[in-house]
Amino acid sequence: MSRSMVTLDANEAAAYIAHHVSEVIAIYPITPSSAMGEWADQWSAENKKNIWGTTPLVVEMQSEGGAAGAVHGALQTGSLTTTFTASQGLMLMLPNMYKIAGELTATVFHIAARALAAQALSIFGDHQDVMAARATGWALLCSNSVQEAMDLALIAHAATLKARVPILHFFDGFRTSSEVMKIEQLDEDDMRFMIDDELVRAHRARALSPDNPFMRGAAQNPDVYFQARETVNPFYARMPQIIQDTMNQFAARVGRQYHLFDYVGAPDAERVMVIMGSGGEVAQEAVEFMHARGDKVGVLKVHLYRPFSVEHFMAALPKTAQKIAVLDRTKEPGSAGEPLYQDVVTALMESADGARPMPRVIGGRYGLASKEFTPAMVKGVFDELKKPNPKNHFTIGIHDDVSHTSLPYDPHFSTEDPATTRAIFYGLGADGTVGANKNSIKIIGDETALYAQGYFVYDSKKSGSTTTSHLRFGPKPIHSSYLIRSANFVACHQFNFLERFEMLHVADHGAIFLLNSPFAPDAVWERLPRSVQQTIVEKQLKLYVIDAYKVARETGMGGRINTVMQTCFFAISGVLPRAEAIAAIKHSIGKTYGKRGKVVVEKNFAAVDATLANLYEVQVPTNVTSAFDLRPPVAAGAPAFVQNVTAEIIAGRGDALPVSALPVDGTYPSGTAKWEKRNIALEIPVWDEDICIQCGKCVFVCPHATIRAKVYDPQCLDGAPEKFKHVPARWKEFEGLRYTLQVSPEDCTGCTLCVEVCPVKNKSETRLKALNMMPQPPIRA
Ligand code: SF4
Ligand code: SF4
Repeated sequence: MSRSMVTLDANEAAAYIAHHVSEVIAIYPITPSSAMGEWADQWSAENKKNIWGTTPLVVEMQSEGGAAGAVHGALQTGSLTTTFTASQGLMLMLPNMYKIAGELTATVFHIAARALAAQALSIFGDHQDVMAARATGWALLCSNSVQEAMDLALIAHAATLKARVPILHFFDGFRTSSEVMKIEQLDEDDMRFMIDDELVRAHRARALSPDNPFMRGAAQNPDVYFQARETVNPFYARMPQIIQDTMNQFAARVGRQYHLFDYVGAPDAERVMVIMGSGGEVAQEAVEFMHARGDKVGVLKVHLYRPFSVEHFMAALPKTAQKIAVLDRTKEPGSAGEPLYQDVVTALMESADGARPMPRVIGGRYGLASKEFTPAMVKGVFDELKKPNPKNHFTIGIHDDVSHTSLPYDPHFSTEDPATTRAIFYGLGADGTVGANKNSIKIIGDETALYAQGYFVYDSKKSGSTTTSHLRFGPKPIHSSYLIRSANFVACHQFNFLERFEMLHVADHGAIFLLNSPFAPDAVWERLPRSVQQTIVEKQLKLYVIDAYKVARETGMGGRINTVMQTCFFAISGVLPRAEAIAAIKHSIGKTYGKRGKVVVEKNFAAVDATLANLYEVQVPTNVTSAFDLRPPVAAGAPAFVQNVTAEIIAGRGDALPVSALPVDGTYPSGTAKWEKRNIALEIPVWDEDICIQCGKCVFVCPHATIRAKVYDPQCLDGAPEKFKHVPARWKEFEGLRYTLQVSPEDCTGCTLCVEVCPVKNKSETRLKALNMMPQPPIRA
């Protein structure tokens, strides 16, 4: 049977199943799970049906606690009900989750697993939230990839009806929830095959109803509570086999076979890693690479974490395993070890029969709050296991100079397939770069036989900050759930990024570097910082430039450079032959903008053609000539903490900060934001002092307090630069004083609010006001 190949992320994949097999969906958005609720809401608004032909009722509650309560209530009426959440949202659901499990109610919650707010809030991914739910009596089923998020979502919905144990289906927040990947889409017949209508009827029959009155959820005293709590044991004892049988049923139809614990690697492995989540994909890539070179290593990827089946775990573990490293993506301060480690140790102890030597087990932490986890780190852990006395309770991926837990590793170890195209794009939040890249993945994923993966790194400041897109395309399935460290295509969509941070350290030798430049091909070299020139020369990069803003303006696209930059990528990256690539992008434009009419489509076609006419390869000189270099992240006069910590974070070197650099309790000095000069505005407001009426509205409206008015004594002007603007203050009470309105160019975001609010029009040129947006670089220079 041939199913569609689709390009989507795990949030959409899980929501797609959940919406098809539910009747009630209670939601409350929380990053990074929000998209699941948004998809469900949208599909119900579009009247999309579930597999029984009804439109699921989607209700947004006042909090996650309310959503869980609504789920509990709907379940008690016999509805097939679900929700989506993450992090603190899951914490708010815990009280209801105990009730739902205690009443043996079939349901699935889909979780984009995320860090919990401890010393600081973090929106990024790890397993702290789901680990905090492991005592609730819910099964914990983990998907490691986008394909698994769709497959195991369906397996979860099918299995919970059989087992009557609710299932918390989770995958890694951001790394999996937001990773765009080409996968095979399950169809409605697959869902009907997996969901047994008899079990749905049985679920309904357990509903509270005046037609069939009974009582559920009473209070119990010391005489019976304990015994009643023990009644559920057989349900949990049966659960692992029910899940495995459901996985087998799925495999018989779809062809993808999952196990509670999936083993990959040498059949006679001596060193084995046990891991759960997207880290399992990374470990698989590293293990396959090392095994092919003769290393006896393997990885056991955990799917069903609760109930933890000792029997299935031992059956999946190679009998040859002598050393085991268990990796937890969570932290439990003060524990004897993190939870997965403790379960593995218990499983081995309980299975010890003297027939085979007990393996040496070590446990460690990795990847908290989406900290990168790479094949190099996997290798570092395997190298540690080789030692006679490997370090236990280790960390990997950080430099712990306080408790000395961290393991060393060689960051240059790489398992990337040379046949995979690896591209990195630096853009500005909301400049269209991420949208264009998602579109490129869809074009290549949907219209070619290539596999495609996209991952997008944002910082918490969202709009107006840097976005980095990591795209892979290749002939084989992609397991690389980590950022690209060595790219054969690098694009910089904002010229001013060049002097702000290093970006070509990720470029491979001979890679293509595409630069959106306001400077012509024969003038751009002298405008590049010295270290950028040096890297281009040393790595023999091919440099291409385009003035994307000019092309966008001239083709009626305004400030949107997404189509222009995307066309450049298709034209020069070599992922597809050039003519085929341009035809594909035009086909995609027709599909995307067709509904908006011919004019919009033609405008975009014109932008594609103009792009090709304005894209130039620069003849790279052999010499480094630039007289300037990257600007320091903060001014020299900044306090020590800002120099040593904040500046490193601003410069993108936060990963290298040692444990000792950070406060123990999340307490930071205040007033440090002023040292961060983001310098992101392409245009800034320029004051026309002659017509300004000094109303102060612009000062009042600026969301960043970037524009300030001052009234001062004329003597303060002694020594001021000649071009410093000032006029007499217009108020009676300030007679004789001077007035200046000043913008801080490096803090301005270019939002234009101040210009919009300015009430004064220039009578000689009415398109102008007393404040007007002008290109920033010449003014700053
Ligand atoms: S453009 Fe926006 S950020 Fe810049 S000064 Fe005006 S209001 Fe402030
Ligand atoms: S809003 Fe316009 S007129 Fe009012 S102070 Fe600002 S620049 Fe001057």
